[in-house]
Amino acid sequence: MKQLNHAIKLLTSLVMLVSLLALSACGKEQQAAAPEESKVEKQTISWKLAQTWGTGFPIFGDAVIKMADMVNEMSGGELEIRIDSANKHKAALGILDMVKAGQYEMGHSASYYWKGKDPNTMFFSTMPFGMIAPEQYAWFYYGGGMELMQKVYDEHGVYSFPGGNTGNQMGGWFRKEINTLDDLDGLKMRVPGFAGEILSRLGVVVTNIAPGELYTALDRGTIDALEWVGPSLDLNMGFQKIAPYYYTGWHEPATELQFMVNKAAFDALPAHLQEILTIAMQYAAYDMYARSYHESAVNWASIEEEYPDVKIRTFSPEIIAAMKSINQDLLAESAASNPTFKEILDSQNAYMKIARKWTELSDYAYLKDNLE
Ligand code: CA
Repeated sequence: MKQLNHAIKLLTSLVMLVSLLALSACGKEQQAAAPEESKVEKQTISWKLAQTWGTGFPIFGDAVIKMADMVNEMSGGELEIRIDSANKHKAALGILDMVKAGQYEMGHSASYYWKGKDPNTMFFSTMPFGMIAPEQYAWFYYGGGMELMQKVYDEHGVYSFPGGNTGNQMGGWFRKEINTLDDLDGLKMRVPGFAGEILSRLGVVVTNIAPGELYTALDRGTIDALEWVGPSLDLNMGFQKIAPYYYTGWHEPATELQFMVNKAAFDALPAHLQEILTIAMQYAAYDMYARSYHESAVNWASIEEEYPDVKIRTFSPEIIAAMKSINQDLLAESAASNPTFKEILDSQNAYMKIARKWTELSDYAYLKDNLE
């Protein structure tokens, strides 16, 4: 009897749904049939996007192309986005300024590259010892992250959106093995974001270098070590040939790239193009996360045969403990003098607390008993 009641309820709901769909389809037909609609000439809006990445840069650059293609297709050619790579605009780390100034309507980069301008931007890429990608996406879209990101970027005249996640990043390539804290003292390393601040306190000479110049900098000894991404992108760059020690990650557990849109340009778009653009950016971001996971898995599967000299290491408990302690100190220092920094930090910490409990009960519990 209970089952029958349930079936009737389900059937009634279905009938209602079908009726609603029929009504809305009807409305659409009427709209489409309106004569004035069909006579309106659709004009093409042409935008330019500046990306941090060079021409043909895999995965990151592909996410941008995917977004632009989707916008063009979904808008029926009403909005087209031309992409300029770093080879063209020559300002790999100047994207925020160019989009803010309206020189470009859009940009693709990473939020933590702007920490020198505004430390509050760092939180929207990834934070050392912070959330992993599923936790961070949940925070962005359902835990208040998008609102906080926009609060920060309102001051810079742009809208900011997630731009694709690399997943957990590797700790970097080192010419020499790092065994103790002394080994870090005086080491010259390319590392962006808050991790750079932490390592700096441990005596590391920290720089950020645009992706196109990384290999040369490491090869010529301008730097002794660098971190870039992970197997998805690192092996193509050739770092393993000159710095064989490859450390597991601690510093970028979920690096999210960034789409930026000039505010005035976005606000001037008709509502349907704003929606198309927003959806295309979100799709391209999720898609890049899946792609990154795939590329890392595939590249890593053959590492031992292809690059037998690569030596996997994990930083010692002593080094990790020192990094964690400095991380806490630095966060507290910035939070004390910067209310927005504190607001974002508190939000991330509170969210991670609840999200991590679920991660522990779900993925972690499953993995710890099922690793082969
Ligand atoms: Ca990185």
